Formats: sequence, structure tokens, C-alpha cells
Amino acid sequence: MSQLTVNGIPVDVEYKKIRSMNIYVKAPDGHVKITVPLRTGSQVIEAFLFRHMDWIAAQQKKVRERYPQHTYLSGDTIFLLGAPCVLEVRETEKKRSCGMEREDNRLILTAPLNSTAEQREAILRKWQREQLHAILSGMIPEWSSKLGVLPPEWHIKRMKTKWGTCNHRAKRIWLSLALIEYPTECISYTVLHELVHLLVPNHSARFWELMTEYMPDWKKRRKRLNAVQR
Ligand SMILES: [Zn+2]
Repeated sequence: MSQLTVNGIPVDVEYKKIRSMNIYVKAPDGHVKITVPLRTGSQVIEAFLFRHMDWIAAQQKKVRERYPQHTYLSGDTIFLLGAPCVLEVRETEKKRSCGMEREDNRLILTAPLNSTAEQREAILRKWQREQLHAILSGMIPEWSSKLGVLPPEWHIKRMKTKWGTCNHRAKRIWLSLALIEYPTECISYTVLHELVHLLVPNHSARFWELMTEYMPDWKKRRKRLNAVQR
């Protein structure tokens, strides 16, 4: 992998056994990568990138909106159940007082003196996990009984590309911590989706039939979940 800079934007260049050039704008930070056929001259690559600058800028904007670069400082915007909340950081000398609280559309994060972004993020994540856990504790048994399945073993974890997964054989589902940032109807879409997988492991016509039967507006909910805006 080598690097080029075009219009001030650093670009990773990967030479591959391919026929044409492809540009990728990657999450979460919007960095740019181009794959090019072996032995492509750097002037040819630069010209190609230059022609696609508008597209690159638009993609970077999208990615950065979707994955805001959080500082976890006062003023940062954190979504909670689809609503934007403003973070307010307070410092404390008492370790026991660290934590999070919600006051209307403000999230009060109490952190140790001179905390790092990682420390503040850890406090936020712990709180988000508790919030999501409380919601899922009600939702999973409720949907399971509607569907006529035994409530599965379930866990929350941070996932990069998915909202949930289901291990059909082990009867175990995993849900993404990021769901807490989305409206309740999106969380319940994901829960139902993974629970339906207990009955139908794939995405066959039968799977979507069941989804429609139990949640007629599932498409709308899925769209919201996959949109750039929360
Ligand atoms: Zn699925």
C-alpha cells in the first residue's frame, strides 16, 4: 500500500490484479482508499481521483455524519432513542460519583478530574448498555411470547456492521449496543428480526412473511435504521 495526496486529501493506494480503478470512502473516519490495476502510473491515479473529488467529498460527509467523531466533551451530540442529546461533562474528585444521568435533552457525564476521552467514553458506554439492557429485558420476552418461541439467551455487544445476529442452533441472539441511539421502533424491528430467525434461519420468503405478519411496517423501521440520520 502506498499513499498519495490529492487536493489535500491523503489517499491509500493499493495495487491489485484488477481491470479498473475503484475508490472507497471508509467508515468511521472517512479515509479514502483506491484500488488500481498493477503498474498504473501515479499521474493516471491522481487524475482519476481528481475527477471524482465531488463524489469523495459527498461520501465523506455522509460517513462523518453517520459516525460522528466524538470528543466526549461538553457540547458533543449523543443520540438516545432517536433524540439528539447534548453532553455536559462535570468533573469530580470522587471516583464513586462518576456516571451518567439524563436531564431532558441533556446527558450529564460525571468524570474524574482531567479525564481522557477513553474514560469518558467508557462511562457513556456503560450507561448506554444499562439503558439498552432495560429495554431489551422487556422487549425480548414480549416478542418471544407473541411469536410462540422460548425467550433466547441474549447479549449486547459493540458491532461494526450489523444490528443483530442470531445463532439459530444455540438459540442465542446478540444485539448491537448502537441500537440505543435509535428510536424504540427500530430496536423492536431488530429484536423481532433476530427472534424470527429462531424459526427461519435464513432470509427466505417465509422469513419476510412472518416479519410482515407480526410487524406490518417493518420496512419503514429498517429504512430508518439504515439511514444516515437517526
Ligand atoms: Zn437476518
